Amino acid sequence: MTYCFEFHPYQRQFRHPLTTHHGIWKVREGIILRLVDEKGRVGWGEIAPLPWFGSETLEQALTFCQQLPSQITSTDIFSIPAEFPACQFGFESAWDGLVARNGGDGGDEGDGGDEGDEGDGGDGEESRIETEKTSPLLPNSSLKYSYLLPTGEAALTSWQQGWQQGDRTFKWKIGVTSMESELRWFDQLVQALPPSAQLRLDANGGLTQHQAQQWLKVSDQAGIVEFLEQPLPPEAFDVIRAMEDQYKTAIALDESVATLNQLKTCYQQGWRGIFVIKAAIAGSPTQLRQFCQAHDIDVVFSSVFESAIARIAVLNLAVELSHPHRAVGFGVNHWFV
Ligand code: MG
Repeated sequence: MTYCFEFHPYQRQFRHPLTTHHGIWKVREGIILRLVDEKGRVGWGEIAPLPWFGSETLEQALTFCQQLPSQITSTDIFSIPAEFPACQFGFESAWDGLVARNGGDGGDEGDGGDEGDEGDGGDGEESRIETEKTSPLLPNSSLKYSYLLPTGEAALTSWQQGWQQGDRTFKWKIGVTSMESELRWFDQLVQALPPSAQLRLDANGGLTQHQAQQWLKVSDQAGIVEFLEQPLPPEAFDVIRAMEDQYKTAIALDESVATLNQLKTCYQQGWRGIFVIKAAIAGSPTQLRQFCQAHDIDVVFSSVFESAIARIAVLNLAVELSHPHRAVGFGVNHWFV
């Protein structure tokens, strides 16, 4: 079977720039993929790179797409090198969608048109794709979402918006400004949040060992912290693993397990805490599924601010593979214009 292949770069602007320990991010850029088989059936995929997390860059992904012929085979799709994890995800999930659709009602008429999705990315295009093309594959509503709060003091008022829409898990980035300020806001946030809320703290690897210990101590006392995410950079794996035993509050690895190969390495080195998986940049979803099923690991699926196409592909994986009690890190729609 050969597939006609097209790709379209997109850009999507954040409502407010996203501040993390990695820096300030203003525009999400990626590539939408479209495969059409010989019967005219369509599969959509999305490449949403995150180079500071170790994926290929957008330019590398574009070059990769440009060197492919306009007709490709499943061998092309399943032999993408591991240096292109976001491409592996995009192409495999497009193929997966097409094949899954084959097994379903197969109705692909009226594909909604894909003109004009370059440049500003066109939210209209995305929502059209979401409603017309992929809703049969939308995961069921059993997933709970973790609502991403703004960094700093703004978190103290923003959580209510998430709470009103039904979210009970909140995520707050730390390690962004002074520890004294963040600890003060943390105290206020813990006081403000209803007792049934859970809070995730994400340091993006930006703490010192001493700061990480302080955060774990206050988290143990607060009682509503679900986990502290990536307190130290990936090089400090042994230190993080030792801290895991010293505190009640769980620790999650994120930057340390950005790709499937890194995830396997951390597992082999004995990590049995939480794994945050950004599936859109982790590599082959087929291999990821095999690994998660073989090892029964505690997984939280998380967003890379992908658009609807990759989001739905990841949420479908999450329904299959994530820990039933853990919210997915996809409460991010309020971040986009
Ligand atoms: Mg993180």
